[in-house]
Amino acid sequence: MSQPSHAHDDKCIFCKIAAGKIPSRKVYEDADIFVFDDINPWAPVHFLMIPKAHVASMAQVGLAHEALLGRMMALAPRLAVEKGCKPYPEGGFRIVINTGAEGGQEVHHLHIHVMGGPRPWIKG
Ligand code: ADP
Repeated sequence: MSQPSHAHDDKCIFCKIAAGKIPSRKVYEDADIFVFDDINPWAPVHFLMIPKAHVASMAQVGLAHEALLGRMMALAPRLAVEKGCKPYPEGGFRIVINTGAEGGQEVHHLHIHVMGGPRPWIKG
């Protein structure tokens, strides 16, 4: 799949995770997308989906990222079930994309939180 950018940020922790330079619990990987368990989960299932190319946040996303973002979102339901979320409608999952300081973003490499599993959760 063609990408709008293949840029990587040497100082970015999620670029390093996607490149295998920092260990993670990998859930899924293809040429453009890397998925791994969140190190500090809020829910029994909590993984992060990232583009391998460095995109700082949803604020930088435009039409050039349409296919990439579409593929990431289309992949989420399958991975949620593979990670143990019960199927919809009894189970399901939550998707969150924190964006910018007021959006609660701490790691500035676009990431999609996917959370699910039996409640209570730590957040929400
Ligand atoms: P917040 O920390 O408020 O959720 P973000 O939306 O930027 O802000 O989320 C960053 C997420 O990345 C956090 O859930 C955090 O636990 C996770 N995280 C940080 N470092 C790692 C790591 N090395 N491996 C896996 N997950 C990580």
